[in-house]
Formats: sequence, structure tokens, C-alpha cells
Amino acid sequence: MRFVIIGSGAAGVRAAETLRQIFPSGEARRSGNSFEDSGVQVDGRPEDGQVTVTLVSAEDFPPYSRCLLPAYLAGRCREEDLTIRPRDFFRKLGINLLLGREALAVDPGKKVVKLADGEELPYDRLLIATGAASRFPPIPGIDRPQVFGLRHLADARAIEQACVQMCTRPGAHAGAHAGAQPDSDSRLVAQTRSVVVIGGGFVGVEAAYALIRRWGAQLEVTVVEKEAQILPAQFDAYAAGMLQREMEKEGIRFILGRQVGEIVGQERPDHEAGREVGDRCRVVLTGSGTAGDSGEESLPADLIIVAAGITPNTAWAASAGPAVRRGILIDDYLETSVPGIYAAGDVAEFRTLSPERAGALPTWTPIWPNASAQGRIAAYNMASRRRACRGLIGLQNAVEFREVPAIAMGLVEPPVPAKGESGESAYMVLVKAEPEQRRYKKLVLYKNALVGMVLVGDISQAGVYGALLRKKTDVSRFADTIMNDNFNCGHLRSL
Ligand SMILES: Cc1cc2nc3c(=O)[nH]c(=O)nc-3n(C[C@H](O)[C@H](O)[C@H](O)COP(=O)(O)OP(=O)(O)OC[C@H]3O[C@@H](n4cnc5c(N)ncnc54)[C@H](O)[C@@H]3O)c2cc1C
Repeated sequence: MRFVIIGSGAAGVRAAETLRQIFPSGEARRSGNSFEDSGVQVDGRPEDGQVTVTLVSAEDFPPYSRCLLPAYLAGRCREEDLTIRPRDFFRKLGINLLLGREALAVDPGKKVVKLADGEELPYDRLLIATGAASRFPPIPGIDRPQVFGLRHLADARAIEQACVQMCTRPGAHAGAHAGAQPDSDSRLVAQTRSVVVIGGGFVGVEAAYALIRRWGAQLEVTVVEKEAQILPAQFDAYAAGMLQREMEKEGIRFILGRQVGEIVGQERPDHEAGREVGDRCRVVLTGSGTAGDSGEESLPADLIIVAAGITPNTAWAASAGPAVRRGILIDDYLETSVPGIYAAGDVAEFRTLSPERAGALPTWTPIWPNASAQGRIAAYNMASRRRACRGLIGLQNAVEFREVPAIAMGLVEPPVPAKGESGESAYMVLVKAEPEQRRYKKLVLYKNALVGMVLVGDISQAGVYGALLRKKTDVSRFADTIMNDNFNCGHLRSL
């Protein structure tokens, strides 16, 4: 049996190691216990040695965590700290890891994947785990060289390099820290460089915070968000406001309720200190903004980071013909509409192929725990050990800015009743705000079950609320205690 997995992110790696857990091979099979050594639990038994597991990645770096890219940009970790498995993990498990090899097409008739270098990889079962790419909105000028996405290590390296160049060339403000040292000429002229981040979602805000922490003395960082709050997909407005204020204390500027309409070049040979400074852009803003907006029409930008969402990497697999909406559609067993071809992670749209689930939300939740869980379940089904995906882990987002941790799970804002809709809402919202202590707690209940929560400042109750949320427990019996700060898992023992 030949298993081929395209994409070595959270979903692909988890699928590959799960397949080798079911079908041990190589050193794992000989020693009989190397799954324990490598932290993977054994629940399979040695089977047919003819099983091959091939993991293909377009990237030339060993599998790593994208979630740590902001930490890398902030100078808090090195490249080698990003990897998610030990160096010889794949060899020991008998996983054939092909790095720097891009898949271009699939021929489901011949059952082969065609790689960019011309090689054809035959498969019996195929997993598409190609994740997603940064979405670049159709803004004139978005293809300028000063514009970067942040999805891959290559992006983070390029942004870092651009920052180092900006902060070390003549005219950069003296006093760099964490890596980038200005040269002697740079002290002649103090000029701050400007970074504009398009998108105040998770990636944009984390990127802005990373840059300001590392190069804050030399960089002005502005985040432009089209919604009236930052982190609109993750947090409610109150929590987002608290987090925004923390980041403003670090020097990040936010422009809310405005969009970027165009990026125009400002090619000006600048001969400060006798050396060419290089190109600068202007980011043209549209919209009227929220209260307190300065009304500026454009911003200077030496570097632009686009963090305006992601697009699933489905195009290359189109030749196989799987049904695609936003992502590749999969059923409860993570199989696509093409028999023998599975999909998992950010590239996949979950449950949409099961008729009784059609329209059920959420169908696409591109976060690490979901990708990893789907990779594992896909592997079981590829190995003919039928296992249904019980549900998504859910929308769970944790951040920490200036030592203020925050976590959101599930539905953080009850839906606004439709026009003309009357009657009592089945939703109830419990809130406790302590701005002086930089603490905030919000629980959203639907028909007495917890369906969403937000915690800022103190996230120690995330576990107990998360458990209630996942179990869909009727919490009416905890009505008097559930908002107390000492409400904990001990209270659940009575369930
Ligand atoms: C900056 C950043 C911070 C994040 N922080 C968090 C966080 O804190 N918490 C959280 O839950 N999630 C976070 N995420 C999201 C999380 O990283 C993703 O949900 C997760 O990586 C998805 O895993 P995946 O395996 O589906 O895809 P990916 O991780 O995208 O992996 C897909 C792989 O497939 C490769 N590939 C694509 N096309 C081809 C091809 N044709 N041939 C071969 N290989 C190909 C890609 O290069 C990539 O290596 C963050 C993402 C980013 C970018």
C-alpha cells in the first residue's frame, strides 16, 4: 500500500506519523518502542512491511510551526526552534520526507502525483494537506517589492531581512537592538522607517507586535483594519479594545474602519548621508474610519505586510477533480469527492459533503489543532480503519500582549436578531469587566449551554469553561457560581 501526503504542515505530519503508528516500519518496527521514544503512542500492530508513507513539501525546511513565525520575527526564537519534530524523526519512523518538491497535478486515473521536477509519485491513497496561502486583496500596487505576506518561513526571513536593511542603512534611527545594528553612517541622520500592516486579525496584530518589540526604536508600525475593532474574527469589541490599548502602549498605531485602496510608489532617490535610501510607498486609505480617526488619506510605508486572510491551496489539485467551494470539500471521513483522495487541514472544508450536515457551521476553521486532529483522522480512514470526525476542536484563539493573556473560544457575540424577529432570545450573555485590573470575562450561553467565552487578563478558567463548552452541558445548576473566579473543574465532578 502506497500512502502519499502532499504538504508537511500540521495536518500532513500528523497523518504521516499516524500511518506509521498503524503500520510500523524501519527502526520503529525493529525496536518496537520508538513511538514511545518519539512521543507517539502505539496503538497499532506491526503489519505488512510493503506499506510506504511519502510526505512531500514544497518548502525546503523541515516541518515547522507557523504559529511561531511571529516569535521568530520578534527575535525570540531561532529557525531551528521552529521545527516540530526531531531531526531524524521521519527517517526513524520510515517516512520518506521529500523537501523542496512541489506537487503540480494529480492523475486520479493513473493514480500518480506529478511533481514540478517531472517525477511521478504513484499512490494508492492520497492526502491533500497543502494548507493555505496569504490572501493578497486585489489592491493596485499590491505587487510592489515592498509588500510581503506572512505564511511561510521564507516570508518571515524576507521580512526580517527587509527590517535589518531598513534599520541599518543610513538615515535609520540609531540604537537598534536584538540583532540589527546600525552602521556608523546611520547616526548622521535619524529617520524612522514606516511599516504598514494591512489587516488587524491574528496574524497582522502578532506581526506588528513582533516588529515593534524587536525594532521599535527604529520602526513606526501602523495596523490598518477595515472593521471597527482589531481581531474581529476572534474577540468581541470590548476584549479587542483592551488588547489594542496594551499594544498602543508599545507604540503600535491602529487605524480602524478604513481600507487600503491603493499602494503607490514614491520612487525617490534619497541621498541622505550621501547614500541612496531607496524606494518608499504610500498606502492610500479609503473609508471614514472610527471615532478619533485622524482622517489621513495616505501613510508612508517602507515595508508593507499583508495579513488579510488566507486562501486554501486547492488550485494544484484541480486536475484530480475534487469538489471545491472555499476549500476542498470533505465528508465526515475526510474523503473528497474523488474516492481514495482525502484532504485535511486549512485546505479542506469540513463536513460539507455529508448531506445532513450541509450548511452546518463552521465548515472551515483554519487553526492548528483542527489541522492536526484532521490529519490524524484522515490517516485512520486512509488505512481503512473507519473513523468519523466528531466535530471541530472549535474556534480557539489565545494571544498574549504585554503580559496580558487572552483567550476566546466558540461564539463570542450572539447573532444579531434578524430584522422583524421578535420574542425572547435563547442567548444569554454574562459579563464581568475589571478594566483597572486589566481583566475581563464573558460567557455566552445558548439554551443554558455554554457556547462561547472570552477571558482577558486571567485565563486560568479556560480549561473549565472549555470543558463545559465541548460537552454542551446544561449549566443552569451553576447559575450562581459560574462567573465566580474560583469556579473550577472541581465543580464539574457532580456532572
Ligand atoms: C503567522 C501565523 C500564526 C499562526 N498562529 C496560530 C496560532 O497561534 N494558533 C493556531 O491554532 N493557528 C495558528 N496559525 C494557523 C496554523 O498555522 C494553521 O492552521 C496550520 O498551519 C494549518 O496546517 P496545515 O497542515 O493545514 O497547512 P500548512 O501549515 O499551511 O502546511 C501546508 C504545507 O503544504 C505545502 N504545500 C502547499 N502546496 C504544495 C504543493 N503543491 N506541493 C507540495 N507542498 C505544498 C506548504 O508549503 C506547507 O508547507 C497561524 C498561522 C500563521 C501564518
